[in-house]
Amino acid sequence: MRVQIASEPGRPGRANEDFAAAAPGLCLVIDGAGAPADVGTGCVHSVAWYARQLGGLLLAAAADVGLGLGEALAVGIERVNAMHAWTCDLRHPGSPSATVALARVNGERLEHLVLSDAVLVLDRVDQAPAVVTDDRLAEVITRLDEPGRLPAVGSDEHTRRLRDRVERLAAYRNQPGGFWVASTKPEAAREALVGSTPLVELNGVALLSDGASRLADRFGLLGWPELLAVLRKGGPAELIARTREAEASDPVGARWPRGKASDDASAVWWTTSD
Ligand SMILES: [Zn+2]
Repeated sequence: MRVQIASEPGRPGRANEDFAAAAPGLCLVIDGAGAPADVGTGCVHSVAWYARQLGGLLLAAAADVGLGLGEALAVGIERVNAMHAWTCDLRHPGSPSATVALARVNGERLEHLVLSDAVLVLDRVDQAPAVVTDDRLAEVITRLDEPGRLPAVGSDEHTRRLRDRVERLAAYRNQPGGFWVASTKPEAAREALVGSTPLVELNGVALLSDGASRLADRFGLLGWPELLAVLRKGGPAELIARTREAEASDPVGARWPRGKASDDASAVWWTTSD
């Protein structure tokens, strides 16, 4: 299989809290998330650090095809814990966390795992794309948010509403009835969506952080078949460039209300041909 990767921070010069990588037969996208600086995290490390460590250690764990992808994710979370248990408070509700999309060839099948709002799109031969994403976080946000549209991105009211959302979400993170992300609890891996598809039924697979899936799932500018066509023709860099164009046309979120004008965006496009 042939793999192409692109990953860009939401704004030039800012840390990219996504991480995307591939090894033979294996690829992943990690999207790190943290609490606002004044809320506290109990962790001396950055969100970007967490995303990189989890990505690297998860690649290493998942390279062993004797481990299921869920088990590999649990191992990855445990190994990151071990790297900062002595310096950081891993029970802190604001600990860095991440969403995960992971794909692996195992024999004649492609296995996948998705945790939280990363998106994995199976480009299937002679069938509509199959989209795998976990919408529990979005459901909790819908339940918790104040009614009404988000105000303009960058306004004081927008900042207050997002901060309020983050504080309320803490009680639902990695809790039954809430939503699940990779952070400090290995058992979150049991909540991941997993599956496998015969390789002969696939043209390829796309792994996207939510900053790179927006054209389809948030903005509604492309259907999933069209998004796959962009990847096929121009690759991941083209998908991100088009996303940035759309965002620049709506800088304060008047047309598409959203938390960040531009988010870190990562896309892996893995094709079975070539
Ligand atoms: Zn730490």
